[in-house]
Amino acid sequence: MSVDQALIVKITSEVLAKIQNQKVQHCQDSGIFTTVDEAVAAARMAYKELRTLSLEKREELIKAMRNVSFENATMLAQMAVKEAGMGRVEDKITKNQLVALKTPGTEDLRTEAWSGDCGLTIVEMGPYGVIGAITPTTNPSETVICNGIGMIAAGNAVFFCPHPTAKNTSKKTIALLNEAIVKAGGPMNLLTSVADPSITAANAMMRHPGINMLVATGGPGVVKIVLSSGKKAIGAGAGNPPVIVDETADIEKAARDIIAGCSFDNNLPCIAEKEVIVIGCIADKLITYMQKYGAYLISGSRIDQLLEVVMTATEEMMAEGCTEKPKKIYGINKEFVGKDAKYILSKIGIDVPDTIRVVLCETPADHPFVIEELMMPILPVVQVKDIDAAIELAVKVEHGNRHTAMMHSKNVDNLTRFAKAIETTIFVKNAPSYAGIGVGGEGFITFTIAGPTGEGLTSARSFTRQRRCVLVDAFSII
Ligand code: NAD
Repeated sequence: MSVDQALIVKITSEVLAKIQNQKVQHCQDSGIFTTVDEAVAAARMAYKELRTLSLEKREELIKAMRNVSFENATMLAQMAVKEAGMGRVEDKITKNQLVALKTPGTEDLRTEAWSGDCGLTIVEMGPYGVIGAITPTTNPSETVICNGIGMIAAGNAVFFCPHPTAKNTSKKTIALLNEAIVKAGGPMNLLTSVADPSITAANAMMRHPGINMLVATGGPGVVKIVLSSGKKAIGAGAGNPPVIVDETADIEKAARDIIAGCSFDNNLPCIAEKEVIVIGCIADKLITYMQKYGAYLISGSRIDQLLEVVMTATEEMMAEGCTEKPKKIYGINKEFVGKDAKYILSKIGIDVPDTIRVVLCETPADHPFVIEELMMPILPVVQVKDIDAAIELAVKVEHGNRHTAMMHSKNVDNLTRFAKAIETTIFVKNAPSYAGIGVGGEGFITFTIAGPTGEGLTSARSFTRQRRCVLVDAFSII
């Protein structure tokens, strides 16, 4: 009996489609396991399968990840704000969309070559294997999307340990990305996590022999922990970005840009303007313009009231017999992180319209609003006498995080001096802070900015190992 060729093709494609469908169905709630062991083992299998695929196929998977992230940008933004109780939906939509579009893919990987009398030597960017990624509550979908795209573009699989406060948003993002990968013909479980992410799970992940590299995006505590894990680690830690405005700036534009950057997602981004340092002679003008662009100015006892509401204070422990008055140590009242300015003001009895995006106040240089990373739309303004004092203070309050700083000025010497002195990973001139991650500025986007370990704005190449391949006496055609 001779079987028709067309019939064979038809049956084969039906069977393949069925298998693919089963894979997709099996993938509902995909990538989420009960234990760290199971999740890491599944990611390891996915990594091995990814290694067998071509770079072209890998890029197809990245395209599918971009599409699903873009399509679900609104749903994930709404979920994040509802679950974590912080941020602004419209800004989170923008963040999700931009991270889907502007996170570099496989094109970020570069090969270096030397050719000569002895032949050809190349250095390629190979994957690490399975990466353990810790993500913050402030960007629960954005970090999963940008880490996911970058790490997979580099050929890795990822086990995510998201912040418990926003775990459902992060897990949903992981599931969507996995489903899109499988539909595009890729392996299951390239991104995994556990149903109940916690500090215990993060610690188990850090110790797990199946994890080849760690990437932590969060506050100073978690960065310190991954750096002492004994594994290769990338640490993207806290910032407290100052913005300087000098006499040569376009003051109205500076005011508009500062309010736009500071209020974006209610000040949750680690790069957002956290304190303004202004030369005294232009301070009033700057403050007036900031009010025009959505800031509400408070003063006197209102500032003390606000401090009591949004920060916690404990007294320093003094040695026995010490007669000095104990200093107050301030912390953040987490309830107010990422909340609307209107909500924050309502807690000190001030009612403002929705158009108010920032609470503005003039403070001394050592005020807790200046010193602490608030991540709330509260912006302290400090007056200084000249540019020397401005630079000195900005460097001090950035605390050596070497994260982000902004300056509004037309004086190239002042801009250069500040950039050199502050040594931040991102330095933005005459624009809102978010221009530094490619929003209205050139360059790609990321939500993992690795100041402490020096990778800077991370992308696929940050998640690779350099591998040299040497061919002697051949392939050089010089
Ligand atoms: P966080 O430090 O409280 O938590 C971050 C992550 O670390 C979470 O997943 C958390 O569960 C985990 N974690 C915290 N303590 C841990 C411990 N002892 N052991 C193991 N895991 C631990 O920070 P957050 O409130 O989620 O995020 C805000 C902070 O992150 C801010 O300081 C902000 O500046 C920083 N951040 C930095 C970047 C960057 O790219 N540099 C990006 C976003 C946020």
